[in-house]
Amino acid sequence: MSTEPIKERSPEDLAFKEIIYEKSDWVARVTINRPEVYNAYSTLTLREMQEAFRDAAYDDGVGVLVLTGAGEKAFCTGGDVKEYAEEYTKRPHDYWKYMVEFQAAVDMLRNCGKPTIARLNGIVAGGGNEFQMACDLAIAADHVEIMQVGTRVGSVAAGGATQWLPIIVGDRRAREILYLCERIPAAKALDWGLVNQVVPYAELDGAVKEMAEKLLDKFPECLRYTKQQVNFWKDLVWHSTIGHARDWLAIHFASQEPYEGMRAFVEKRPAEYRRLREEAVSGGSPSFVWGAYIKACGECGAKGIPEDFVFCGVCGAKLE
Ligand SMILES: [Zn+2]
Repeated sequence: MSTEPIKERSPEDLAFKEIIYEKSDWVARVTINRPEVYNAYSTLTLREMQEAFRDAAYDDGVGVLVLTGAGEKAFCTGGDVKEYAEEYTKRPHDYWKYMVEFQAAVDMLRNCGKPTIARLNGIVAGGGNEFQMACDLAIAADHVEIMQVGTRVGSVAAGGATQWLPIIVGDRRAREILYLCERIPAAKALDWGLVNQVVPYAELDGAVKEMAEKLLDKFPECLRYTKQQVNFWKDLVWHSTIGHARDWLAIHFASQEPYEGMRAFVEKRPAEYRRLREEAVSGGSPSFVWGAYIKACGECGAKGIPEDFVFCGVCGAKLE
């Protein structure tokens, strides 16, 4: 076990690949640097974010943490769909582990002991909105749009959105955002209290700097404890639900709704929402792609064959 004292590290030593970590003038800036995928985060990104947030927490030379995305198209658009399709659709079991990494990143951000500002430089979607809500304050460029996507793509935004939207924007608006998954323009986000300030993109850095300067001209210990106190309601709902969400999402990942949502996304077509409803009405099971695993093969003895299959997938015999 290391007995090294807890101290700050240099961004060069940390050698991040998917984020940019900078520290200057009392401000640490974490930039999700995957503009080619609209700053979606991978598992590695989440790990690097944890490390950066931890360093910002430990570094007394950091008074404010700014979270942003590279470029001007996207702040962050949530989990990387390609990684979901390649890793977690095949092994939903591992999605539970992914959620451990996600939660650790969110928790390190929320508990870094410094005020945090989300610098919203472009589209904010899904887990991206959850990360911006995990920050204390948010400033958006006026071209920004914010949205949740869960019910549209076959998931549930239980990584912060179901928990914190009611606190931040109120119950009715939270339900509208979560159920309908519509784009919220920056002006509406400001009106609803989802962000603190909206400025033209050219003025975004200036506005963030100005807010950071105001924060730096306050007592650090009092800011830290004020943050801890104000965290109470968000902590309460978070800790009461996130463990459950981690388990439920991991199990749900193996069923038909996320499968159809992901297929529709990859095939660039609308998802067949009503087909799943009709399957349930007509006595089928919308949980399974090819029906429940209840058939057996009289020829080779294979069991657990999907109900809709006509031939055995093991020996090829026609099923009775
Ligand atoms: Zn067979």
